[in-house]
Amino acid sequence: MNARPKKSFGQHFLHEKRYIERIVSAIGPRADDRVVEIGPGEGALTLPLLAAAGRLTAIELDTDLIPGLQARADGIGTLEIIHADVLKVDLSALAQRLGVPRVRLAGNLPYYISSPILFHCVDHAAAIEDMHFMLQKEVVDRMAAEPGSKVYGRLSVMLQLACRVEPLFTVPPGAFRPPPKVDSAVVRLVPLAAHERHDADPQRVHAIVKAAFAQRRKTLSNGLKTLLDSEAIASAGIDPRTRAETLAPEDFVRLAKLPI
Ligand code: SAM
Repeated sequence: MNARPKKSFGQHFLHEKRYIERIVSAIGPRADDRVVEIGPGEGALTLPLLAAAGRLTAIELDTDLIPGLQARADGIGTLEIIHADVLKVDLSALAQRLGVPRVRLAGNLPYYISSPILFHCVDHAAAIEDMHFMLQKEVVDRMAAEPGSKVYGRLSVMLQLACRVEPLFTVPPGAFRPPPKVDSAVVRLVPLAAHERHDADPQRVHAIVKAAFAQRRKTLSNGLKTLLDSEAIASAGIDPRTRAETLAPEDFVRLAKLPI
């Protein structure tokens, strides 16, 4: 225990027991679950999750943490540690290898790459049952934001088109070693069922959402001018003079479905 936390790996180890317990109870792991933890660190969440589920797969980038973690899991359950950058792990292939259609993801995420990790998970949403993540509170606020809110943007739309976003509770800096500079929050994400997901081309949706929010203060017709003209936008029943932040996630899907 008590390795010196590495800033470059975004290491802030959770030590306050009551938050660890709240996270584990929010997840409610069952004996037959295939839980995959991102960034187990020294095992604050890993060991209680392992005790409840009996087995667990953890993905950790920092080699130095792996032997200690593996040793601490001894006698608790079967812990498989994959030494890798989670962004390079094919989560759908992992679920298949673990013999389940969908895994349950959990993690106190490294904040320096939290958005790329979220987008990576969204890409594999069909292979995920649910996700419980600790993130900067500000990121959770953006994920759950509604149209018209100041923090509504690309992350809100992309996440909400793929998952139900449920903020659970906040966690103060003092619960971690070392304390991060910001408040944190735990969020539950439940991927939408196949019949609830949109059927537009995901790359086109992404391109439109990205362009629309690139300059928040521009009108939609201005922001999207390389992708769609004003008449096309209007034909989807959307005012081209409006701003991206007023559009609901489904509006972006309608725009993505317009003929190019
Ligand atoms: N789960 C532990 C806890 O709650 O105390 C550690 C959380 S710490 C905020 C983030 C963890 O993610 C660290 O263990 C860090 O080494 C690991 N990590 C950082 N970048 C990673 C990456 N690209 N892929 C997988 N793990 C990563």
